[in-house]
Amino acid sequence: MNNRDIFPWQTKQWNLLWDAKKNNRLPHALLFAGAVGLGKMHFAEAFSAAVLCEQSVLQNKACGVCHTCGLVRAKSHPDLIRVMPEQAGQMIKIDQIRGVVNTSNETAMQGGYKIIIINPAQAMNQYAANALLKTLEEATPKTLFILISEQNLRLPLTIKSRCQKIIFQKPERQIALSWLQSQAVSGDVDWGLVLNMAEGAPLQALALVEKGTMTLRQAIYSGLSDLSHGKADPLQLAAKWQEHDVVMVFNLLLYWARDLLRLQLTDQQAVLVNDDYRAVFSSLIQRLSQQNLIHFVELAQERYKQILNLQNLNRQLLLEELLIHWTNYYVSR
Ligand SMILES: [Zn+2]
Repeated sequence: MNNRDIFPWQTKQWNLLWDAKKNNRLPHALLFAGAVGLGKMHFAEAFSAAVLCEQSVLQNKACGVCHTCGLVRAKSHPDLIRVMPEQAGQMIKIDQIRGVVNTSNETAMQGGYKIIIINPAQAMNQYAANALLKTLEEATPKTLFILISEQNLRLPLTIKSRCQKIIFQKPERQIALSWLQSQAVSGDVDWGLVLNMAEGAPLQALALVEKGTMTLRQAIYSGLSDLSHGKADPLQLAAKWQEHDVVMVFNLLLYWARDLLRLQLTDQQAVLVNDDYRAVFSSLIQRLSQQNLIHFVELAQERYKQILNLQNLNRQLLLEELLIHWTNYYVSR
């Protein structure tokens, strides 16, 4: 995907904003809100490229060949500034915001717009948000802030009220599937299943496949099944699984456990994420009490949250704990 085109599920947002740009009605600040994996940052890049491009009016997107487009593509255009945490998962610091606030008060070097993309906006700490707020209150003409957020509830109301909110929704299933099917990935992929796991977000689904999650899923699910039949050792499995991305491992464990619970609570009529495991799950819940299953789900959720909060935890111990519980549900019965 080049930096000029948008994803097929973003045309509504594009038309709205491009119309505003052509009629000189662009607001001072935009908030792109929506789930992870919908391509909000990519959209922000494409829109910025179009706003800055010298010839975009001719084709309603960046031309890709002018001098400006070359600078944007090389990420060296002086009037397009991207503010992100210095390391993934960290906060955006006040010094980073101060830096862009200072430059946003100057007029654009190339005589057009000055665009500042902040992603993810909820990563601004309170001081950074306050520093930004002042700038948003004193609008400079031809300066556009684009705030991107997956969790806009965590943004201060004072900031949100200064932004025009643009909502990115999950695409219709058919649109997402046909886009995924057109992607070059190796091997046979059950995109319907992957899209379920990605909760409908196409880029998230693609990332799952590219990161080898589907292979990991198979290993984990046969491991859990083996445990319930006394054919595997929980400590050995925990040692093996902690070598992988532990957030992903816990995600997979949660999908597994929630599917089992859904099946048990709905008398087997439930819609499952892992529909290909329906027969396996049906047989597993027959030997598993609802009380144990609920406990397992709660425990897995609790540990998952701790891992996400970046607490310094012994991941192998957390996995061992869960797998020993899981094994005991079956051994003791
Ligand atoms: Zn251009």
